[in-house]
Amino acid sequence: MTGGSKEPAVFVNSSRLGAFRFSPEHPFNPERVTRVFHMCEARSLLSGPRVSVVDVETAEDGLLARFHTPEYIEALKRANGGTEIDVEMLHHGIGSAENPIFKGVYDFSALSATASLVASRRILAGADTAFNPCGGFHHAHPDRASGFCYVNDIAIAIDELLAAGMRVAYVDIDAHHGDAVQEAYYETPAVLTISVHETGKTLFPWGGSEQEIGLGAGKGYNVNVPLEPGADDDVFLVVFREIVMEALRVFRPDVIVGQFGTDTFATDPLTHLRFTNNGYIQAIELLHASYPRILALGGGGYNMRDVEQGWTLLWAELAGLELEPGYGGSLGGVFLMDSSIPGSNLRDMHVYTTGPEKDRLMASARELVRNFEIEIEPLIRRGQAKN
Ligand SMILES: [Zn+2]
Repeated sequence: MTGGSKEPAVFVNSSRLGAFRFSPEHPFNPERVTRVFHMCEARSLLSGPRVSVVDVETAEDGLLARFHTPEYIEALKRANGGTEIDVEMLHHGIGSAENPIFKGVYDFSALSATASLVASRRILAGADTAFNPCGGFHHAHPDRASGFCYVNDIAIAIDELLAAGMRVAYVDIDAHHGDAVQEAYYETPAVLTISVHETGKTLFPWGGSEQEIGLGAGKGYNVNVPLEPGADDDVFLVVFREIVMEALRVFRPDVIVGQFGTDTFATDPLTHLRFTNNGYIQAIELLHASYPRILALGGGGYNMRDVEQGWTLLWAELAGLELEPGYGGSLGGVFLMDSSIPGSNLRDMHVYTTGPEKDRLMASARELVRNFEIEIEPLIRRGQAKN
């Protein structure tokens, strides 16, 4: 493995994925993948010596068995026609309102997991960064679909990196707790899992408290950062610097696997956080400055504009490409006052929570930092000393 900046950043696309539809009224719209691809293309972010684009056309055989049970895989296969429903499927969470049966549900899931696996292999082949926008399905359990997720592409990609001897840290900044990834590595120190999310007191999947820190040999290697509704970029960046970056500094990963959902943004219809893409990108810049090797996956995001702009900015950052200041284009971005900021018309207006509510949110963030410093960081430090 060479690493180094000579290898390109890899955008893993699958032109087939954007055409699938969960159900007419479902908030998760795979069209987002096509839109992000086109926005990146329109801004010349998919060409040049630093970038390569891979198109994944077929799913890899046997891939799902790496994480899922045979019974679950069979049920998902039977659901692929999009019409037949049986008790066994329902038992596995397939056929609910949140995880409907749709035509190609198996194909979609297997293809998106293949794209994440391809991304992990490109990292192993020496690419610094790889991005699969149609990945990050962090709620898929071994035998159960949940929270719009059918197949856990993340665990499959992480296992590929682990098998090659890499030290992996998982950083999940989606609004929802990364429950199934936490569960997969809860009892092992091999993967440091970190999830920053809206508290389970107000949002699905209703868990992810700071007290869930791992079990047995894995104790200390699971870090949850549950934020209160209304938390904005300021609050996010405090916990990101003082918990996420600090945990990583102690753990010293070779590679970061990131679930970079955009449903934390103030304009997301399903959640109650108030981030903007400014805080989001700032966090990713911080991460990337210390950890050049990043496997980036998509995730949630139910406002199409947030997804398109957030992930275009994300890709530009990962690939080290400049977005032209004040690019006019015909894409209808929201224009900021300051056109000197690169890619400024993709940037959100700043949104800040103020007054006593902000004080309360900051105090609660500081409490999380204190808890991390006292309860978790010493455990990771001690574990590292043994290695
Ligand atoms: Zn989410």
